Amino acid sequence: MTKIVESWVKFRKEPLRASFSTSLRSVNELTIVEFHIKTDDGHEVFGETVETPAITGDTLAQIEKDLRTVLPEALKNKEFETAASFFNSHISKLDVTKSAKCAVDIALNDLQAIIENRTLGQLLGSSVKHVTTDVTIPLTEISAIPNLIAERSDFPALKIKLGKDLVHKNIEKIRLVREIIGVKGLIRVDPNQAWSVEDSIEFLHHIEQDSLDIEYLEQPISAHNKVGMAAIRAQCSTKIMADESIYTVADLEELVNVQAIDLVNVKIIKSGGITPSIAIIKRAKELGVDFSIGSMMEGDKGVLGAYLLAGAYKPDYCHDLDAAWWALSTRFTYVEGKVSI
Ligand SMILES: [Mg+2]
Repeated sequence: MTKIVESWVKFRKEPLRASFSTSLRSVNELTIVEFHIKTDDGHEVFGETVETPAITGDTLAQIEKDLRTVLPEALKNKEFETAASFFNSHISKLDVTKSAKCAVDIALNDLQAIIENRTLGQLLGSSVKHVTTDVTIPLTEISAIPNLIAERSDFPALKIKLGKDLVHKNIEKIRLVREIIGVKGLIRVDPNQAWSVEDSIEFLHHIEQDSLDIEYLEQPISAHNKVGMAAIRAQCSTKIMADESIYTVADLEELVNVQAIDLVNVKIIKSGGITPSIAIIKRAKELGVDFSIGSMMEGDKGVLGAYLLAGAYKPDYCHDLDAAWWALSTRFTYVEGKVSI
């Protein structure tokens, strides 16, 4: 049976087409951390990750340390059968960052695909030629919004990043977006934890009274405030999505138990790889919670994992896979709101 005999870390930089700003951070260039593995029968594959300290808390220094110390030890000379069995027996319980685990798990999935002489898409069960996606309007002044929308006119859905502005200012922004895109375009709103429970409820009541029609409100309040999410959901009719508050199946179950959410945004860096993301998707399905596949601002390999999960588990939905659209150089193409590779 195949054994992993060697691993190493490499870095590469990927500039973005424009600054990506949310209420948590602003990014112009990505530092991609590649984790390469080699097996005793000569296979060489890699996975990758990025730091998103404002979201996951995982810094580049910690991720690099995990990928150079604990994780190589955990992999070395262990017999490899499948990515899922290897990850669940040797990686999932380790006390290392989820961002680092994600790079390892992508490499493990690639390794399984190569050993079985299949593509990663075949391994994960995706046979689609493209996936529909939204595109982000970053946190910005209202005056910049018309141009930003014009640059994104062929996407069917916009994810609008909002921040700590007064409620009426945020409503003004959404009113403007709705005026520009008309009644058909989908609007998703993501304040990335910037709001209070009261402001979130006030915002949604205005949105609902004025029929501005947003598809969902994503993670409006602190990731720790599960009861607050439930209070917002109980008092409004708009769907509520969890993002930063769900890293694990247990997080998902807790939010569902208090009836706090309608949807979860699944991202492989948050969950620690493709394997644990599949566990969250399967549990969400069992619990009757809707889900969307998203990604961090990350490199092609990370986006590929997310893209294939979308294709495998929810091919006919408009996901949140615009990260590669932001990259100056990528293997993905975006045409009429559909991403393909
Ligand atoms: Mg989000």
